[in-house]
Amino acid sequence: MRRTPAALAQELAEAGVVGLTIAWADNNGIPRSRTVPVDRIEEVAQRGVGITTLFAVFDSHDAITFAHEGLPNASGDVRLLPVLERATALAGQPGFAWAPGRQLTHDGSPWPYDQRGALEAQIKRAADAGLEIKAGYELEFFIGKDGDGELTPAHDGPAYSPHALLAVDAFAAKLLEDLAANDLKIGQLHAEYGLSQLEFSLEPSNPIKAADEQLLARQTIHAAAAEYGLKASFAPLVSAEGVGNGWHLHTSVWRDGENLLADGGGSGPSGDGAAYLAGLLRDLPAITAVTAPSVPSLHRLRPGYFSSAYSFWGIENREAALRYVPGSELLGANHANVELKPSDASSNPYLALAAVIAAGIAGIQEGLELGEPIQDDPGGWSDEQRAARGVARLPATPQEQEGALLASQRVTGALGEELLGAFLAVRRSDAAWAADKPLEEVVAAHLWRY
Ligand code: GLU
Ligand code: MG
Repeated sequence: MRRTPAALAQELAEAGVVGLTIAWADNNGIPRSRTVPVDRIEEVAQRGVGITTLFAVFDSHDAITFAHEGLPNASGDVRLLPVLERATALAGQPGFAWAPGRQLTHDGSPWPYDQRGALEAQIKRAADAGLEIKAGYELEFFIGKDGDGELTPAHDGPAYSPHALLAVDAFAAKLLEDLAANDLKIGQLHAEYGLSQLEFSLEPSNPIKAADEQLLARQTIHAAAAEYGLKASFAPLVSAEGVGNGWHLHTSVWRDGENLLADGGGSGPSGDGAAYLAGLLRDLPAITAVTAPSVPSLHRLRPGYFSSAYSFWGIENREAALRYVPGSELLGANHANVELKPSDASSNPYLALAAVIAAGIAGIQEGLELGEPIQDDPGGWSDEQRAARGVARLPATPQEQEGALLASQRVTGALGEELLGAFLAVRRSDAAWAADKPLEEVVAAHLWRY
C-alpha cells in the first residue's frame, strides 16, 4: 500500500530515522546525494531540494568541466525530488532512510540531464511497442582495507572457496542481513576470482527498479563494510594488471508475458529474441561507451579475463561481450537472458539501461538477423580470423570510445542532445586528466569513487 509522504515521515521517525538521503548517480556512475531531516519529507516530496545544474558536468575527480555549451557557467538550479515509493529505512545505517532521486526543472517539467528520465523514456518506448524489459545486475567488488594507498585484502582466496568467505564471515553475514532488510533480493554470494573479490547478483526486475536497486546495493555494501572497518571498491580495476570488477548487466525482453529470448536452447534465440540480441550486437561499441565509460573501464576490457574485449555473442561463452544464457529444463525457459559483460560501476545504471533498451528495441523493430554464435575466445585468433568472423575489438581509447558512441544515433538518441553533450564533455575531461598519468595512478584515483 502506498503511504502518503506525511505517513512515511511519521513511520520513519517512529523507527528512529532522522534523515532521508536522496541519491542519484552522475555521468561517472558516482552516487551523489542530499540528506533532509525526516520532518521535511512532506515538503521535499512536493518541491524537492535545490541542486546545481553542474552535477551533469562533474567529472570522475569532482572537477567541473565547462566545456559543454549547454551548461557554461555556475548559474542555474534544478530540484531533486525523492521517489518515495522506493524509500527504504537503511538496515546498516539506523539513523537514515534512502530514496532514489529525480531531477526536475523549477516548473516541475523533466530536466533533460536527468538520467532517470532518459531511462523512463526508453521504457515507454518499449511499452509503446508492446515490449517489456527485465534487468538485473551482478556486482563484483574488492573488500579490504586501504593502508597508505596499499590495498590490504580481507580474504586471500581461494577463489570461490567457503574458506575465503570465512575470512569475511561477520561482514558477509551482516551484508546478507542488511540486503534482505533493505528488500534487495539476491541470487547468491561468493568469493570471486579477483583480489579479495566478492560477488552477488540482484534479482531481475523492471529496469528502473534494477537501476535503483543497484544504487541501494552500493549503499548497503558500503555501510556493512564500514561496520567491520573494511572498505569496498567497486572500481572497474583495483590494480593495473589484476582481474577487474565487472557489473554485468542481464536483460530479457518480453511481450504479453512471454520471454522472447526463451526459445533459444542450444542454438541461440530466434525471431524477435534474436533480433533483440542482434540489436545489442550492432550497437555494442556505442553501448559500451555508456556502460563501461571511464578510463579504467577501457583497461578492464582485455582478452582472457572474462570481462570481454571483442564485439561478439556466444552461448554461455564467458569471453563473449554478449553472453546468451539459455533457459533449461531445470531453470525453466523464462530464465533465458543476455548478459552484457562490458559493464561496470563507473557507468550510470539508468543511462546504461537506456542505451541497452534503445539498441535492443531497434533490433526488434528493424527485424535484424543474428549471426552465428562464437564459442571460442577470439583474443587467441589472428587479425585475419577475427576479420573473417566480423569480430572487432571494443573501443580501447577514449577517442575510439567517443567515435563509437557518436556513430550510433540509436544510443545517442537515448541520451538526448543535452545529456549527450554533458556526457561527452565529462569523458573528455576524464581523458585529459588521465592522459599523462601512469595507469597505476589512474586506477588508484578511481578506487573509492563509486
Ligand atoms: N571479473 C570479470 C570482469 O571483469 C568477470 C568474471 C566473471 O564473473 O565471469 O568482468
Ligand atoms: Mg563474476
